[in-house]
Amino acid sequence: MYDLIVVGAGPAGLTAAVYARRAGKSVMVIEKSSFGGQMTFSPKIENYPGFPEISGNELADRMVSQALGLGAEIDLAEVSAVRRTAHGFAVTADGRDLEAASVIIAAGAEHRRLGLEGEDDLIGKGISFCAVCDGAFYAGKRVAVIGGGNSAIVEASLLAEICRDVTLIQNLPSLTGEKSSAEALLSRPNVGVYYSSVVAGYRSKDGQLTGIRIRNVDTGEEKDLDFDGVFVAIGLSPASAPFRSAAALDANGYVIADETCRTGTPGLFVAGDCRTKAVRQISTAAADGATAALAACAYIDSL
Ligand SMILES: Cc1cc2nc3c(=O)[nH]c(=O)nc-3n(C[C@H](O)[C@H](O)[C@H](O)COP(=O)(O)OP(=O)(O)OC[C@H]3O[C@@H](n4cnc5c(N)ncnc54)[C@H](O)[C@@H]3O)c2cc1C
Repeated sequence: MYDLIVVGAGPAGLTAAVYARRAGKSVMVIEKSSFGGQMTFSPKIENYPGFPEISGNELADRMVSQALGLGAEIDLAEVSAVRRTAHGFAVTADGRDLEAASVIIAAGAEHRRLGLEGEDDLIGKGISFCAVCDGAFYAGKRVAVIGGGNSAIVEASLLAEICRDVTLIQNLPSLTGEKSSAEALLSRPNVGVYYSSVVAGYRSKDGQLTGIRIRNVDTGEEKDLDFDGVFVAIGLSPASAPFRSAAALDANGYVIADETCRTGTPGLFVAGDCRTKAVRQISTAAADGATAALAACAYIDSL
């Protein structure tokens, strides 16, 4: 039986492991795919304090090494369920049950993708999901934002401040995000929209995105457009399904918790992108990891 099981080895989970190990707790981190989480998709990170520029993979390696160096165990397995037991929690990972006094859910979220050919290879080479993270790389350049809801409007508004021009590609006849924000965005001289249009394909040269092909959903007409960058803003999907019965989720599937990272279930905490929150970044995920770990340690000590 572990003191603490952490689900997910992104910045939230790895920070939680560092804090809990430094507090002397036994810690198992369970990760289903990439040690380091979403940041491993980012070739260049320029907003994590202490590192003016670092690749996502290097930052991930450093966090993993730090957690392992402090004695955390890290296992490659997929957690399918977490449930309360008489002694704490049972965590089902790849069909076997592990036990812990306390659990931190740090399973993150995934940006929804268009699922078009070549998309995965062009991420970080012209395709991005986050204007706060990557917008500065496109200062003075031409970008497209895919989507027309609130997240697309927020991304496009940020990009319009620094890019030469911003073109939204919206599959519906109007923007669906908040009305006043949409109007403010559309009043900018460097912002345009193709309505009733979907992305039919990505265009690239030598592994770098050069533009997109769009299709009008009413007429079927296709058109090639040149862009330096494409920001896909069609929403985030929290990886919360395995925790549905253990913790309350909001309407969008995020685990409900405030800045204390406590869920409604004593001993069960949530950190990072998979919880209800306003800002989803590496630094905020790390902050959650520290908060959740210290709360979990206090809970374990109180038993
Ligand atoms: C391309 C890209 C670029 C980005 N660039 C920046 C940037 O420059 N600066 C910045 O601050 N932020 C950036 N972000 C956002 C940042 O990476 C996230 O906010 C941050 O990684 C969230 O951390 P997290 O630990 O909460 O979740 P994640 O990083 O999503 O990690 C969660 C981990 O949990 C694992 N997991 C999920 N479900 C299970 C399960 N059932 N069992 C086991 N494991 C599970 C996942 O595989 C994943 O590894 C970027 C994101 C992307 C996609």
